[in-house]
Amino acid sequence: MGFRPFIYKLANELNLPGYVLNNSSGVFIEAEGSEPILRNFLSRIEADKPKLSVITNLEHSFLDPLGYSKFEIKESEEGDDVSALILPDIAVCDNCLKEMLDPKDRRYLYPFINCTNCGPRFSIIESLPYDRPNTSMKIFKMCDKCREEYKNPADRRFHAQPIACPDCGPQLFLWDEGGNIISEKQTALKETVDLIRQGKIIALKGLGGFQLIVDATNEEAVRELRKRKHREEKPFALMFPSIESIKEVCEVSETEERVLCSPESPIVLLKRKSKIGNPCLAGRQAKSKISVTVAPHNPYLGAMLPYTPLHHLLMKELNLPVVATSANLSEEPICIDEREALEKLRGIADYYLIHNRPIVRHVDDSIVRVILNRELVMRRARGYAPLPIIVAEKYFSLEEKTVLAVGGHLKNTVALKKGNNIFISQHIGDLSTEESNITFKKVIDDFKLLYNAEPDEIISDLHPEYISTKYAKHLSEKIKQVQHHYAHVAACRFENQVEGEALGVSWDGTGYGLDATVWGGEFFLTDDNSYKHFAQFRKFVLPGGEKAIKEPRRSLTGILFEIAGSSFVDEFSDLIENKFTSAEIGILLNMLSKKINSPITSSAGRLFDAVSSLLGICDRTNYEGQAAMMLEFAADWSETNSYSFEIKKSDKFQPEADEPLAQIVDWVPIISSIINDIRKDLKPSIISTKFHNTLSQVILEIAKKSGMKKVVLSGGCFQNALLTERTISLLQENNYKVYWHQRIPPNDGGIALGQIAAYLMQHLHLNEIENKTLKEIG
Ligand SMILES: [Zn+2]
Ligand SMILES: [Zn+2]
Repeated sequence: MGFRPFIYKLANELNLPGYVLNNSSGVFIEAEGSEPILRNFLSRIEADKPKLSVITNLEHSFLDPLGYSKFEIKESEEGDDVSALILPDIAVCDNCLKEMLDPKDRRYLYPFINCTNCGPRFSIIESLPYDRPNTSMKIFKMCDKCREEYKNPADRRFHAQPIACPDCGPQLFLWDEGGNIISEKQTALKETVDLIRQGKIIALKGLGGFQLIVDATNEEAVRELRKRKHREEKPFALMFPSIESIKEVCEVSETEERVLCSPESPIVLLKRKSKIGNPCLAGRQAKSKISVTVAPHNPYLGAMLPYTPLHHLLMKELNLPVVATSANLSEEPICIDEREALEKLRGIADYYLIHNRPIVRHVDDSIVRVILNRELVMRRARGYAPLPIIVAEKYFSLEEKTVLAVGGHLKNTVALKKGNNIFISQHIGDLSTEESNITFKKVIDDFKLLYNAEPDEIISDLHPEYISTKYAKHLSEKIKQVQHHYAHVAACRFENQVEGEALGVSWDGTGYGLDATVWGGEFFLTDDNSYKHFAQFRKFVLPGGEKAIKEPRRSLTGILFEIAGSSFVDEFSDLIENKFTSAEIGILLNMLSKKINSPITSSAGRLFDAVSSLLGICDRTNYEGQAAMMLEFAADWSETNSYSFEIKKSDKFQPEADEPLAQIVDWVPIISSIINDIRKDLKPSIISTKFHNTLSQVILEIAKKSGMKKVVLSGGCFQNALLTERTISLLQENNYKVYWHQRIPPNDGGIALGQIAAYLMQHLHLNEIENKTLKEIG
């Protein structure tokens, strides 16, 4: 990040001759001078470094002088130890924006302006070291003016690899749906603006892939986009022209504003200003009316600001919020190539605003939610990936091992440990589709190539049917496996550098348990190098397995069956009669009692689903996590009461885990009280909050029983702001130290890191624990 120019200036300021160069292991400097000045030089490197740069390791040694006459920046060296960091793609900086809008500047209105402090990185790099010939900018020959800037150490664009101008750099083109050029450059942009105003759907080639853009205030256009994309209810993200325009529609806290305007510029989940019952009237001014179809029944909006110069130019002209959603079929990876986009988006996009700078790899927009005044990354991609997590010193003995973790199944990411860095890939997505499968394999090959790494160990989830597990087995006969929920806890421990004993709380929808049942409401006693499965939710039958994930009403029958057996049909007829036909009930009852295609589960996520259905909030979902999300959104945060519950000592012994499970959280009293409240006509908004409050009490009680003073929260359930905030506050009030995610997603996007973390933490005592989490197979 403009590091060599910084070193150049600093060395000249201190009158130190020598040189600086980039090689594939990082930045290498030789400087000659007296020891005090050299020591000053070292400390200033750390203190004055460019704002966005990160020094992960600074080593020095003293040598005999060679008599350099001046300080220079040398050409990069080739080497095989590739461990230099690749930086994420960074939003355009203020200096570049100012130039872009200055009619006297030679890059006036040029949509590919950038400098050493901003612009594309990860999305254009082909191999290390990061130099122009190793990027997709190599096809553009620098003009004399750009070359001058590129070579001038005093210039902001000194060694800015993607440097470009209207004379020598990438250009815009507007295509029709057949790929015929309609217009170019400024005209293409102007015509695109007109087309968006007319309600057309535009596929825009952005930084890390194509986005579909429509006018967010045009109800018909947004509805048409939903229809063409086959996306029924899942909210669309919006791009706004300015922070002020976001504030017209949403509540924006100081932290949220900082995240929105940060160099990472993610999508931020913001609370709408309007009341839930009237989402049409978001904001008071008519011009900020957001189409109700953008995020139906949803009191939040995913909002972002323009982050590339192209987006800035477009939004400035438009001065309207637009839907800016990944251009793909649902759950498939985002398109990156214009020819591919023409195929894939046929029938979806009306026009294509493209450019001729190739995108080397897909990088989606990241998604962040602010919880307790701190950012929580829910989808980690642009702006964040592939920055590494640094391995703590105590695990340095494993420095030599290169480890690949293939992650989970939904929200898949992969991770690669090389040396003391763990590189986590950009978001890949749901591996169920053929396309995302191809991308998954491509990302693994890409990482191996970029970092010149051949893994010594490959780690997967325990689930035998995960595509990621199968692929790991295809790569190596001898893989190691980590239990899903433990991987969540390990990821959170690692991200927060938790030391010593801690209670791990791992709640999500689905994961393969050590006893081959579906887990999801788990508690672990953990320390630096081992774990014990300590508690879990009472299990219930999930009729239809996978189908139950899409139909929360099925989870509901599972818990009612657990409470009352077959007589639940009569006992709770008032609660279920509107949800099923009598034929459906017959089939479900048969499945439940005979356990046909009905796994048993301890999933907290499914419990949220069941309550969501019980309250009449969501019986069927259109996207992952919808029922729990709607239950959270329905809650009235002012309610402070909760329900009673029981924690019982378990008499069960888990042979596969070879560990006694100490405690079972019995949710039956909670559900019974909820049913009483429903029958007393208590509002769902109050019941929902009482349910959330109760779950935080459950965590506190288990924490007390565990005897541990630190609590680590992970798993998809902790994307829920109400649950997370209530739990953290309650634990802190009771003097627990609480850790939760920040830069690593609590959902399955964090599994890959967790797999490597588990490997590192347990490898220390591998002989003793080898047979527990790290099941050796093959
Ligand atoms: Zn810049
Ligand atoms: Zn130029």
